[in-house]
Parts: sequence; C-alpha cells; structure tokens
Amino acid sequence: MGISNKIEENLKRASWIRAMFEEGERLRKIYGPEKVYDFTLGNPNVEPPAVFKEELKRLADNPIPGMHRYMSNAGYPEVRKAVADVLAEESGLPVNENHVVMTVGAGGALNVVLKTLLDPGDEVIILSPYFVEYKFYVDNHGGVCKEVPTLENFQINTEAIAQAVTAKTKAIIINSPNNPTGVIYPEESLSALDKVLSAKEEELGTDIYVISDEPYAKICYDGIKVPNVFKYIRKSIIVTSHSKDLALPGERIGYLAVSPKVPKVDLVMEGMTFANRILGFVNAPALMQRLVTKLQRERVDIADYEEKRNILYENLTALGFEMVKPQGAFYLFPKSPIPDDIAFIKAAQKHNILLVPGSGFGKPGYFRISYCIDKQIILNSLPAFKQLAAEFSL
Ligand code: PLP
Repeated sequence: MGISNKIEENLKRASWIRAMFEEGERLRKIYGPEKVYDFTLGNPNVEPPAVFKEELKRLADNPIPGMHRYMSNAGYPEVRKAVADVLAEESGLPVNENHVVMTVGAGGALNVVLKTLLDPGDEVIILSPYFVEYKFYVDNHGGVCKEVPTLENFQINTEAIAQAVTAKTKAIIINSPNNPTGVIYPEESLSALDKVLSAKEEELGTDIYVISDEPYAKICYDGIKVPNVFKYIRKSIIVTSHSKDLALPGERIGYLAVSPKVPKVDLVMEGMTFANRILGFVNAPALMQRLVTKLQRERVDIADYEEKRNILYENLTALGFEMVKPQGAFYLFPKSPIPDDIAFIKAAQKHNILLVPGSGFGKPGYFRISYCIDKQIILNSLPAFKQLAAEFSL
C-alpha cells in the first residue's frame, strides 16, 4: 500500500547503495574519518578550476538584467554555440548551436534522449559492467534493457552486440571513459560498432542510435585523448556534463549534442527540446549555463587523479590483485579474489575498506574502487589492503 510496486521493488534493488553509505557513517563515528577508507562514491573531492570562480565573481559583480528568467528550453544560444564550436573542431563536422540542448547534468540528458527516442517496449543495449542508473532511466521511458557483456579487458564486443540487436533495438548506450572500469574505447572500436550497427539497420530496416555517455571524457591519462564519437559513428548522440570535468556535480549542468549526420536532425532536436520541458526540467540552470560558456576548454587538475590511479594500481597489483589498468575516469575495477564479490566486500569492511561490489554494475566477481578521495586516505589504506590480500592468500 502507498507507493508504487515498481518503485518499492527498485528501492530494494538499490538498497545496497544506502547500506554502503550507512556503513561508512557508522565506521567513521567509531574510528574517525582518517581511518575509514571509503572508496564508494564518485563524488569529486577536487575543487573546480580557478577560472570558474573568476567567472562566478565576474557575473555577480556585473549582473545581466533578466538573467534569472526562463529562456528557450534548449538553453542560451551563446553556451550552445560554445559547446558546438568545440565539438565541431574535434569532429570536423558542421556542429552548431542547433545540435545542442543544455541539460540538468548527464543524468538529465540521458532521460531527455531516452524520452525522445523510445516507444514502449523498445530495446536499449547496455554493456556490462554498466553505470547502475541506466536500467532505471531506460525503464522511466518504457524501454527494455538488453545487457551485453564486454570482453575480458572490458572493451566493446561488437559480435555480441550484433547478436543482441533485434527489430526492437532503438539504441545502445556506451560509456567511455567507463564507470566502473576506467577503460577508453579506441577509434577502431567505435568504427567497428558503427559498421555492425549499420549492417543491422539495413537488414532490419530500423534506426539504431548510439548514445555516448561521456562525463569523464576530459579525465584521461597517459596522454590519451578520448576519440570524438561523431567522427566515427553516424547516428551518435553525446550526453555529458560538467559534474566531473569541472567538478560541479551539485550544480547539475550538462548537455546533449546530436550528430549533424543523424537523419531528420531538426525533428530530433525539436523532440529533445520538448522532452527537456515536459520532463519537468524546463531548462538547465540559468546561472550555470552562463558560467560554463567560457569554460568549454577547461578541466580540473588531472595530474592529481593520475597520481592516485598510479598509487592504487601499482600497490594493489603488487599485492596480487588483478585488474585492467584504467586509462580514464577515477575508478579501478579489480577482480574479486573469490567469486562471491559481496562476501569479499564484507571482508574488506572488517579492515575499514569500503568498496562497491561488481554485482551492482551487472558484473559479479569484481569490485569497484573510486579514488576521487584525499590522497592521504589512499596512502593510509595501503596497510589495510595488505592485510586484506593476506587474508585471501594473494
Ligand atoms: N553517467 C555516468 C557513467 C556517471 O558515472 C554519472 C555520474 O556519476 C552520470 C552519468 C551522471 O552524471 P551527472 O551527475 O552529470 O548527472
């Protein structure tokens, strides 16, 4: 009685997130925050770049009349143009402000895109391990998720994707740099995906969109650059935000951009703008749109994250944990030393190490470490990881 059965079911499915949070709070009260190694949250601990604060001050000192009013549901033309200019440069395609809608974060963008594309019962392919919210977002709009596992190294398995496509497949969500694995999909994989999907579209007489969820696109290491998906995939849609690259997750500012190569792109953009409105977002936050206009080429200090990745990767590998070296984002996704990842993370909790089980990402037998936390906590955690490794005879 009361709330819908579906939400009640979903609350149960998502309850481990709350359980992890509560366990962290409990341990911090007993041992103090510096002795609890909480690797569960993807909440950046770095500050936005200095130029963000300069822009904030400049706007506060020089308010623009009407700056807090509603605007076009797609967002201010200036910020959309600033976004489009960078995308045009990266892709070599004629992307302009009419291909961009400003959104309430990447989460908002994903919901707007799915709302616009899906009819009830349409299928959306997601690649496991995946960002846990995809399933809820697809369900929000009457879609059905089809899970396709990635390869052993977490790269795209194009053959498995081809096999999963049916006449009902409307979209596939890809995420690179990936949460939870940190892998980046190279250009060849994107081209191969485009080829496979185009062949399927021709065979089935359908349209299949590639939704590229890329809030970590500017957080990449070892000199690697994330390929621009517009360049390699014809029916591609980028969804992203400044939650991670400018460390503004609480400000809820992001955007979606549709490739100019998408057929009937004007109609698609009209649909996206309408969905932004009727989902109740109405438009992305006005102040944030103005603030990020000049920050499209900025990002947080990547060296800080890269150093943390190196500390954890090198130390944990030396202890015997097996993992793919992440090239971006701020996560590691090692193999659990025992098949039961839930039992493993419970054992880790006894050493005050808080981790997220791979089961939460559709990939049992693994666990996620989120390293957007203080370096000192990471360093403090190493002896505890050593004890944990010894417990599992690594
Ligand atoms: N997609 C992925 C892969 C994420 O990891 C996140 C946030 O952690 C999001 C989307 C949502 O981002 P936002 O906070 O901008 O809505």
